[in-house]
Amino acid sequence: SNKRVLSIQSHVVSGYAGNKCSVFPLQLHGFEVDFINSVQFSQHTGHKVVRGQRLTKDDLDILYQGLKENGINKYSHILTGYCGDPSFLNRIAKIVSDLKALYKEDLLYVCDPVLGDGGEYYAPKELMPIYRDTILPLADIITPNIFELSELSGIQISNERECLNAISKIHSKCPNLSIIVVTSGLISTDNSQMYCYASKNLKNGNFEQCRFTIPLIRGQFVGTGDIFASLLIVWLDELKGNIKPAVNNVIASLQALLKRTSEAAFRFGAEKPTAFERELKMIESRFDLLVPNLEI
Ligand code: ADP
Ligand code: MG
Ligand code: MG
Repeated sequence: SNKRVLSIQSHVVSGYAGNKCSVFPLQLHGFEVDFINSVQFSQHTGHKVVRGQRLTKDDLDILYQGLKENGINKYSHILTGYCGDPSFLNRIAKIVSDLKALYKEDLLYVCDPVLGDGGEYYAPKELMPIYRDTILPLADIITPNIFELSELSGIQISNERECLNAISKIHSKCPNLSIIVVTSGLISTDNSQMYCYASKNLKNGNFEQCRFTIPLIRGQFVGTGDIFASLLIVWLDELKGNIKPAVNNVIASLQALLKRTSEAAFRFGAEKPTAFERELKMIESRFDLLVPNLEI
């Protein structure tokens, strides 16, 4: 098949976030990845000092026009993640609309509607209505966490029933959106596991829904959502849209990566490892990103 992804995300020179997380797993799995860096920063913003540059919405348009004028804008997927600027997000919507008009169902738009986590925004709040009203109706697959799902649906979520209600509300508002994966947010009562949910609109009035139980790994990591979205592209493509094995594979690879990262970060018994110590062990985990070990 035509495995070509256009990924519009951040770039960090050192460490892992945005495109630096998403591009490598896709390439490992044989995808041609064309990436546009919405920013180029020295490190991700969890570090003490961050320096760098931002791409403007007009810069983005110029790059897109270049691709289009050469007739090389035919992609199987568009992937977007964290975006810090409302007018840049609107421009992404314009580009996605343009590509969708040209290539229709041959193109899947995978959107991680990044807004925040744990009850708080870390992206500008003005992005939320743009995602809700403009982006989600264009998307085929979205990967919100529970906070983002709650904001986008306008439903308070503290349990599974409310989570599924919020998912249903988004499905009914966005009939073309076929897969919603809630990557994280609900935790077991003993704090040892987190839950992930996937929901697929079967477009015959029915929905396939699954819960995934994920053992919690000690530590807080940056870039896990970006890897999640890229591996989801890989496995939904490989497994022909079958959400249950696809999401299982994504979670299994992430488990191996985060175990390795966590063990290294806490190796010397530090209570609070630094941002550098918590950077993902991406290269060391290349085999785990390629072949998910479902036994873990
Ligand atoms: P988001 O960045 O959107 O809040 P997360 O990064 O929290 O999403 O989660 C993405 C995926 O990364 C989860 O579905 C899970 O598989 C994995 N993950 C992230 N943090 C942990 C953790 N502490 N323990 C286990 N898995 C984790
Ligand atoms: Mg999170
Ligand atoms: Mg996320």
